[in-house]
Amino acid sequence: GLSEKLQNVFKGLKGKGSLTESDINTAMREVKLALLEADVNFKVVKDFVAAVKEKSLGEEVMASLTPAQQVIKIVNEELTELMGGTGSKLTYSPKGFTVYLMVGLQGTGKTTTCGKLAAYLKKNGKKPMLCACDIYRPAAIDQLEVVGNSVETPVFTMRDSKEPEKIAAEAVKEAQRRGFNVLIVDTAGRLQIDEALMDELATIKSAVKPHEILLVVDALTGQDAVNAAEGFNEKLGIDGIIMTKMDGDSRGGAALSAKKVTGKPIKFVGMGEKLDALEPFHPERMASRILGMGDMLTLIEKAQEDYDEQKAAELEKKLRKNKFTLEDFLEQMGQIKKMGGIAKILDMIPGVNSNAKNNINLAQSEKEFAQMEAIIQSMTKAEREDPNILNASRRRRIAAGCGQPVSKINQLVKRYNDAKKMMKSFSGKGGAGRMNRMFR
Ligand code: GDP
Ligand code: MG
Repeated sequence: GLSEKLQNVFKGLKGKGSLTESDINTAMREVKLALLEADVNFKVVKDFVAAVKEKSLGEEVMASLTPAQQVIKIVNEELTELMGGTGSKLTYSPKGFTVYLMVGLQGTGKTTTCGKLAAYLKKNGKKPMLCACDIYRPAAIDQLEVVGNSVETPVFTMRDSKEPEKIAAEAVKEAQRRGFNVLIVDTAGRLQIDEALMDELATIKSAVKPHEILLVVDALTGQDAVNAAEGFNEKLGIDGIIMTKMDGDSRGGAALSAKKVTGKPIKFVGMGEKLDALEPFHPERMASRILGMGDMLTLIEKAQEDYDEQKAAELEKKLRKNKFTLEDFLEQMGQIKKMGGIAKILDMIPGVNSNAKNNINLAQSEKEFAQMEAIIQSMTKAEREDPNILNASRRRRIAAGCGQPVSKINQLVKRYNDAKKMMKSFSGKGGAGRMNRMFR
């Protein structure tokens, strides 16, 4: 499989004290073959290998990593990025009632996944109801009822109706009347994407305005799954992908290509036929699984920490000399972002309830970081080095330059000053290092 192939590539690099460009070229040729064999989209492979190569040649080499470890680290980071970075969670409608429309080709696992999703939502404190809109086969309705029964979730049906959009609309009313806060709509599939199917789904979509359209694809079908995702996204618009049958003998290619090709994230993976076999998708975990080298990755993480420690020591020196600039501040914020932000820190605290964690919006902090970056980029060198010189007219100029209100500049300066104060109080031997660790 892919894991063994990649591990072999890295083994080939292991003994080397330093890596030449030709070592990297050879390694990347093998990585490329391994990915293609795993049925990853050709264009995706090409871009991936180019990115890894560029980084391997360009990145500052950490003293604490061997060259092979350095390459593994980069491959791991790029794999994670390829699959969507920090990962995308299922979202709930702010209105308090959420409709998910489940779509996909025949046999991909829609009906089963409806049940799995209901079970998952119940575990997360929601009250879901199911709705049967596959009108073509009575057996499809029976199947959803069996599934609903096993996860103790009611199923709305209208067996005589041939209008799925009406069924779905009625189900919304019924669910709201009975106090449910989620409706999961199961739909019919076809062997291929065709006009009739897309029209039918579009009609249901406009009747119930789903909060998310979730496309179910079968990992075993490889590139076909990715092509289907592209088609559904173009014709209907989807919000996320659920990739089923990841427990099977898939070559992994679909999971690696889907996000890059469609622009839409994988939100869950199906890991078996049972109704509890649904897992939120974590790109970083999937990347480690593909690389199949937990120990190696831990080692690399450790080296990364040591590296951060060095940086922290530099910061500390700057603080002591009162040379902590806005750029240093930005780097500090970047560290927090890199570690997955506040949400990740909360994740490590036992007892913090999972709903609270879900509510913390990672995108928000990503956006904030980009804004800070833009503000600092609009400053002169002197201003970055000493924000104390930022008078009102300078602030107005910067605001105009980065297209943000002056209040944002003020907020940034305040945060910088607070961080500086806080770091000073941590100062002393190992202080900034302690600070850094706290951020992680
Ligand atoms: P639908 O036609 O899209 O509604 O697909 P179904 O829900 O009826 O599922 C088709 C088949 O795939 C059934 O035999 C399911 O048990 C099976 N299936 C669904 N999800 C998974 C999964 O994650 N892993 C495995 N191994 N089988 C699955
Ligand atoms: Mg079905």
